[in-house]
Amino acid sequence: MNKAESFKNSFLSTNCDKFSLKTWILRLLKDVSFETVTKMADSIRREIHGDTVHLRAIIEFSNYCKCNCLFCGIRRENRKLSRYRMSEEEIVKVAKEAAEEGFKTIVLQSGEDPFWNAERLSKVVREIKKLNVAVTLSVGELSYDEYAVLREAGADRYLLKFETSDEKLFKRLKPDTTLDRRIQCLRWLKELGYETGSGIIVGLPGQSLESLAADIALMKELELDMAGIGPFIPHPETPLGIYPVGDVFLTLKILAITRILLPRANMPATTALGSLSPDLRLKAFYCGANVIMPDVTPERYKNLYEIYPGKNQSKSSYSYWKNVFKNVGRKVL
Ligand code: SF4
Repeated sequence: MNKAESFKNSFLSTNCDKFSLKTWILRLLKDVSFETVTKMADSIRREIHGDTVHLRAIIEFSNYCKCNCLFCGIRRENRKLSRYRMSEEEIVKVAKEAAEEGFKTIVLQSGEDPFWNAERLSKVVREIKKLNVAVTLSVGELSYDEYAVLREAGADRYLLKFETSDEKLFKRLKPDTTLDRRIQCLRWLKELGYETGSGIIVGLPGQSLESLAADIALMKELELDMAGIGPFIPHPETPLGIYPVGDVFLTLKILAITRILLPRANMPATTALGSLSPDLRLKAFYCGANVIMPDVTPERYKNLYEIYPGKNQSKSSYSYWKNVFKNVGRKVL
């Protein structure tokens, strides 16, 4: 057992030994100060991951989506949005430029777009793998066989957020699927050997601290390799457009608790935090985060992948982030 794990365990046994996981998470959320929790998370991050920040270039290659999630700006019923699909050649070209700049991982993200079936996407994955980079996919729910085809093509990692573990809330917010189906997909991905990532949105209308504690417990139960935690940001062209932004300090505290529970996971400082303020995104690196995912999608498409407003303000170049982290004593990979 390393120092961070024994630190975590001694904290847990002193404070919460008779309680279930969810109960002590709730206790951390309610009774332990932001400073205490984030300091613990930062110390675990430093011990396990050092001062290295992983840069992952994200390409949002299609904003078509067959789903109608209530919180999402690219939901199928947002008819005000112009839709785009990058071609296979365009995607590979952008990936090549990113790899030449220094990025070691390319993340391919899209809505659930039936045009981009597993067979078509696997050709792109094969091409990008020739660039000697890791490939992460984030293209939603597929069948076991489709995930297998993409894995076979060389995809290394897969991101599929479950957003909330509250079954009723999930059903209301994601009417095209179920929480069970989502969890099943995550288990398939693990079974197929993907490094598997998921995550949540903090501040969804109808969410409670109890349900957030259950979300963190579920991320732990799934033993995720990657965990993303971002605040809810209302999009005006969605049914949730009138609700307030999620609490950013609660978001950072949840990030920190998740780091304590999943010391080895890769955890991004999410774009959603950066959309609210670049300082918040940097602050996440002192609350447990060790990954940043600059958006390298071509400018002409970037503004159209607006899952929430303000998403595309952040800088994308490798050298920009290298300098930012150099200035705070971190190195990038
Ligand atoms: S959250 Fe994902 S699945 Fe839901 S509408 Fe947005 S892109 Fe589609």
